Amino acid sequence: MKELSRIGVLTSGGDAPGMNACIRAAVRRALAEGLEVVGIRRGYAGMIDGDFVEMDRLSVSNILQQGGTILKSARSKAFRTKEGRERAAEHLKAHGVDALVVIGGDGTLEGATRLGEEHNIAVVGCPGTIDNDLFGTDETIGFDSALNTALESIDKIRDTADAHDRLFLIEVMGRDTGFIALSCGIGGGAELVLIPEMLTDMGAIKERILSLMSSQSRSSIVVVAEGDELGGAQKIAEALREESAFDDIDTRVTVLGHVQRGGSPTARDRVLASRLGNAAVEALLEGHSGVMVGIVNNDVKLTPIRNVWGRKKEVDYDLLQLTALLS
Ligand code: ATP
Repeated sequence: MKELSRIGVLTSGGDAPGMNACIRAAVRRALAEGLEVVGIRRGYAGMIDGDFVEMDRLSVSNILQQGGTILKSARSKAFRTKEGRERAAEHLKAHGVDALVVIGGDGTLEGATRLGEEHNIAVVGCPGTIDNDLFGTDETIGFDSALNTALESIDKIRDTADAHDRLFLIEVMGRDTGFIALSCGIGGGAELVLIPEMLTDMGAIKERILSLMSSQSRSSIVVVAEGDELGGAQKIAEALREESAFDDIDTRVTVLGHVQRGGSPTARDRVLASRLGNAAVEALLEGHSGVMVGIVNNDVKLTPIRNVWGRKKEVDYDLLQLTALLS
């Protein structure tokens, strides 16, 4: 096993609240072990440009509670090519970086594994994405914060929906998965939740909404995952408005958008991110590479990254039924 002396840390892909807490934990654990730490700014784009910064204890002071990422994030087309990764590896070698902690989603993890295998660099990934779609961990860094931000907005929309007897279609993030939508649906008492994992039957939805809106409570909230195959909340609202039965239903659309990515991480995300940042450095010290650290049933678990990418984590379908049952 190669002796470690200097590790690199980066954040990549979509930013997620809690990434800073993860950076802090990785940096401080590494320093405590006598390692040197280099921060790589702007993810793989910065690695290719040699945008590196020395990290000490003070460099990660007072960031635990901040959203975003002090190292910044980016998406890099060049890193998808062998030539791009070669340029990145040259910079790593020039800076004496033996190993990497990468924080990001499945694309970030896949890129790290390719780099590691092609250039003999040890890499350990931390699951950082609000989408919660990574296999090998019960929750990803940022999911709980994004969920709580969305939920706060849904509660507020509920007040105005109720006051005016309106139907609200609220679109939440999650790319091609429905984790945020499902949890928001339960937590926000939505009447319906539409997710990409479940084919949306427009006829059944129209019937259900008409029945809900003609019942005693004449306001309803439908949570729509942005990746729903019908094309999001706006498209669904247009389809409803085509029906004359909806002429008397005041239908509004709110797309929550990037507000879900920002803000201070929740306590749950801070703890998760701190545990994972620490576990990533520990895994490197133990000689692991090409693995993602996750928390499964409250224990740290290492999963080979090749088992993570392309493998879909299943949503809990019981939650869908519970939404229908409780609405
Ligand atoms: P999120 O889930 O928040 O979108 P992500 O990490 O999946 O995060 P991507 O844009 O898919 O986001 O990936 C981040 C970066 O990782 C890409 O911009 C690219 O530089 C690198 N990357 C992704 N896939 C590959 C790949 N197959 N080979 C090499 N690099 C890759």
